[in-house]
Amino acid sequence: MTAPGDLRNVDVLTVVSVASVTPTVRRVTLTGSPEAVAAAGPTVNVLVPRADDAAPRWPQVARDGRVVWPAGSHGVALRSYTARRQDPERGEVEIDFVLHGDGPAASWAAAAGPGALLGVAGSGDLALRPASWLLLVGDETSLPAISRILAEAEPTTTGLALVEVAGPEEEQPLVTPPGVTVRWLHRGGTPPGETTLLVDAVAALEPPTGEDVFAWVGAESAAVRAIRTDLRSRWGLGRAGHHAIGYWRRGRAMAPAG
Ligand SMILES: Cc1cc2nc3c(=O)[nH]c(=O)nc-3n(C[C@H](O)[C@H](O)[C@H](O)COP(=O)(O)OP(=O)(O)OC[C@H]3O[C@@H](n4cnc5c(N)ncnc54)[C@H](O)[C@@H]3O)c2cc1C
Repeated sequence: MTAPGDLRNVDVLTVVSVASVTPTVRRVTLTGSPEAVAAAGPTVNVLVPRADDAAPRWPQVARDGRVVWPAGSHGVALRSYTARRQDPERGEVEIDFVLHGDGPAASWAAAAGPGALLGVAGSGDLALRPASWLLLVGDETSLPAISRILAEAEPTTTGLALVEVAGPEEEQPLVTPPGVTVRWLHRGGTPPGETTLLVDAVAALEPPTGEDVFAWVGAESAAVRAIRTDLRSRWGLGRAGHHAIGYWRRGRAMAPAG
């Protein structure tokens, strides 16, 4: 059991600016102390207040990372995001939010302006293992992670990134090692989470031979499950050879508001 002294307050970041990266991706730049910024990623648990709540009742965080919610109604939702850029010296974090509908996080990002608040309740790494040949598979929600992985990869890295987006207007410039190819897959008018584009694209690949392979996958849960099965069976990748997690689930909110 957690004693009251084991709880710490969450870090609260303040929005400095917002910008549209593509028609459906909104980049929110937040500011905070250098320590809070350094601790806000690469993957980050954000606490999203209701868009119209200027004085949210934040939870606290236990020593084991558990979020301890205040009693009663608080209107704050816990979600997972990726810091696309962290600059502790300037005290700035950038998060790209996909505007997909009326979930708490998408709504918050659509309405957020300078001065809006976002809580941070812990962070994690991208679960990447450096390898000579990388397979990266994702959609708009994992594009911030894929962009960080590619930008930080050794220049000698080879491989392929498969990224599903709605159309050419949703493609983003990526800094990649010269040996990595980026292939954009367009959904067209099909809603997100209802195509098999990523699953089919991985199924059509021949696993490279004689390479140290690592596969990283982040997309809608059903697609990730199918790709994970392919990577484990046909590609023969064990636990150390891949990381594949659902970034969102069609028809399901991500986490209870507590
Ligand atoms: C480790 C990790 C990192 C992530 N990083 C990012 C990131 O940097 N940027 C980002 O935008 N997302 C990211 N995601 C995905 C994001 O957490 C989910 O999309 C989340 O569901 C959004 O919360 P919400 O409150 O807007 O919607 P929720 O309340 O969770 O869901 C409401 C409804 O919206 C649907 N929905 C959720 N996401 C989408 C979507 N992308 N397209 C269509 N429908 C959707 C759900 O199925 C549900 O029906 C990340 C997820 C994980 C696990």
